[in-house]
Amino acid sequence: MTFGTVGIIGAMKEEVELLHRNVRVTGTRSKAGIEYVTGELHGKQVIFCRSGVGKVNAAVCTQVLIDQGVDCVLFTGVAGALDPGLDVGDIVISTVCQQHDMDVTALGFPRGVIPFQEQSEFAADDRLVGLAVSAGESLFPGRCRTGKVLSGDQFIASRETVRELRETMGGACVEMEGAAVAQVCAMNGVPFVIIRSMSDRADGGAPDSFEAFTIEASNRSYRLVESMIMRMGE
Ligand code: SAH
Repeated sequence: MTFGTVGIIGAMKEEVELLHRNVRVTGTRSKAGIEYVTGELHGKQVIFCRSGVGKVNAAVCTQVLIDQGVDCVLFTGVAGALDPGLDVGDIVISTVCQQHDMDVTALGFPRGVIPFQEQSEFAADDRLVGLAVSAGESLFPGRCRTGKVLSGDQFIASRETVRELRETMGGACVEMEGAAVAQVCAMNGVPFVIIRSMSDRADGGAPDSFEAFTIEASNRSYRLVESMIMRMGE
């Protein structure tokens, strides 16, 4: 499978740190306050950027990246685990993404449903998911799984909210950008996958866990993305 140019997004500096270290940079450009770095990673053409936190930043960033001609978009970063079977460090590879804070329930729409729109769950590209799964199985055996990624403009740090999200929407993990990236990719017909390593369990201990494990989890996610890049074109 050959994707000509691969777009890679992280939200925070920890999530793009190893990209800065490993990509052989050929150029940079700025748009809407975000810097896009063009270069080569293991011989593959990439453009990477740090979107900033939250759905609006992620949406703008994804559209600008797509306008620069990327053939697919990978997101690399950290998330809070919703599935009790996930440990800190474990990796979720998105099957679908949905906004958990899209809430028009007062008008009778189910939680997470975008009114008057065909689609509210955005499916990742099967080839990219397959590539991520095989990279994950060899790098982190038994520590990777596929699942639904929930996104919203909230840092989730309550067991009660975790239970409610699991019950109403399902979802393996929760973060703040994936569904925005996914929706913009779907609107443009560009394949994507979201890769998230768990920094916390989205419970009362989440702020401390996030603080302690973000760097390590970011690096694990990077390693999986790097391995996907190396496997592209094989
Ligand atoms: N950089 C700031 C804010 C981080 S917000 C700080 O250092 O405090 C949390 C980031 O990590 C978001 O980009 C989000 O996608 C992800 N994330 C990790 N755990 C999360 C959780 N429990 N709930 C929501 N987002 C989470």
